[in-house]
Amino acid sequence: MNTTTKIPSARFGKIELGPEAFRQLGYALVDRISQHLDEVAEGPVTMAPTAEAIGEMIGKISSAAPDGQEAGILLENTAELLFRQSLFNGHPKFWGYITSSPTPIGILGDLLASAVNANVGAWALSPVATEIEKQTVEWIGRFMGYPAGGGLMVSGGNMANNVGFQAAIRAKAGPQILEGGLRSLDKPLTAYCSGQTHTWIQKSASLCGLGANSIRWIDTDAEGRMNLEHLRGQIQKDIAAGYEPFLVVGTAGSVSTGVVDPLAGIAEICKQYKLWFHIDGAYGGFAGALPELQGQFKGLESADSIAVDPHKWLYAPLEAGCTLVRDPRHLTNTFSYHPPYYNFEAEQLNYVDYGPQNSRGFRALKVWLAAQHLGMEGYRQLIREDIQLAQYAFELFSGQDDFETFSRHLSIATFRYVPPALKPRLGDEAVEAHLNQMNQAILNRIEAEGKYFISKAMIGGRFALRMCIVNFRSSAEDVEGFPAYVRALGQAEGSAR
Ligand SMILES: *Cc1c(COP(=O)(O)O)cnc(C)c1O
Repeated sequence: MNTTTKIPSARFGKIELGPEAFRQLGYALVDRISQHLDEVAEGPVTMAPTAEAIGEMIGKISSAAPDGQEAGILLENTAELLFRQSLFNGHPKFWGYITSSPTPIGILGDLLASAVNANVGAWALSPVATEIEKQTVEWIGRFMGYPAGGGLMVSGGNMANNVGFQAAIRAKAGPQILEGGLRSLDKPLTAYCSGQTHTWIQKSASLCGLGANSIRWIDTDAEGRMNLEHLRGQIQKDIAAGYEPFLVVGTAGSVSTGVVDPLAGIAEICKQYKLWFHIDGAYGGFAGALPELQGQFKGLESADSIAVDPHKWLYAPLEAGCTLVRDPRHLTNTFSYHPPYYNFEAEQLNYVDYGPQNSRGFRALKVWLAAQHLGMEGYRQLIREDIQLAQYAFELFSGQDDFETFSRHLSIATFRYVPPALKPRLGDEAVEAHLNQMNQAILNRIEAEGKYFISKAMIGGRFALRMCIVNFRSSAEDVEGFPAYVRALGQAEGSAR
């Protein structure tokens, strides 16, 4: 054949915006973002739009034109849609689930990270980014007082816990597991955690082929902390019955109410039975950096692995999770392969060898920038203030005729609305069912009105309203108006029945 395909030296030019247009679009977008950050507190937390309405609005922006549309208008319309119709966890009255306001420097960091577009799977592909991730992991370990030998950034808490879970299996089962899988083991593996543990553990047990029946749910005390006697007894029972216990998970800040398991006691039991000790600190791990909470977090330093979520209490924009391990060889034992298509040097730090991902984004940058910007003391102060705000909210709801408070641990406060006439009849089955319905209805109203955003917890069968403050924008004034608002909804709900 004598035809040659000629590709022009200037390719389909539209993809390159060109320096002048890039600058102008970028400036305009940054202006719009800045305006949003400045104004977010004045608007609603959410307009609570329906999926149908959103679909229509997106439809107005998108175009079926085969060669696309103009970048400037596209960006402008999309920013407008997002800044009007989203749910804003950066709003000072957002206290739902465990999602934080994003650090402004982290927002810029994500932009910078994607401009470099480092592939942090291998040192050779991301020399500076790899070293920044390494520093970020070290910083996180130092901040929490955990002697991390290494670790890596992942997408979030679920993945951070999963990395610890997989490393624990490999550590107990030995190298044969990598080839023979679970069927090569003589005894079935069992894992131990409290009933308050987040659902990542079912996903991990399923993903790793163990199945949820391999999880032993350990009893808790009235506050939700793991019962160590039950833990020890269950381990002994399983060993006697021919199982192979391999892992105990302690939660440092449970997702419902924020309680911290007795970590030092768990560490001791793990040592005695030679089990991997993993801590799920996705929510509360960073509170371990507060000197005044050292009592609660004692034992954290003994964990084999810890999962934390910078996109929670370091306020990093999503996504940013992190697994820390005492000894990074457990990660390379679990995840390292050397295929012929890699030209990576073994002595260099190649994050592909540390976790399940291959190509990896530069998640560490937004976390590192904020850490450099605020410093450990800045973060301690912010975390401490979030806890104080939750305590303040708890106090505002306490001692009222028409509220009942349940718990305040770390920055989570739980309570419910109770019409004063029903107070003497608490515990009565019909009254409790009524109160559950009523508080569910109140929560639905709160979400629909969009002035505040909170979530729920079930506490001993009782439906509780739950405020989780991981929000550097919230102030005492934001919290002060809330009880009267909930009371009004409760009264409206009561008279509607
Ligand atoms: C949030 C949370 C998780 C899950 O983390 P994601 O970042 O949502 O994946 C796991 N455990 C606890 C205790 C959490 O609070």
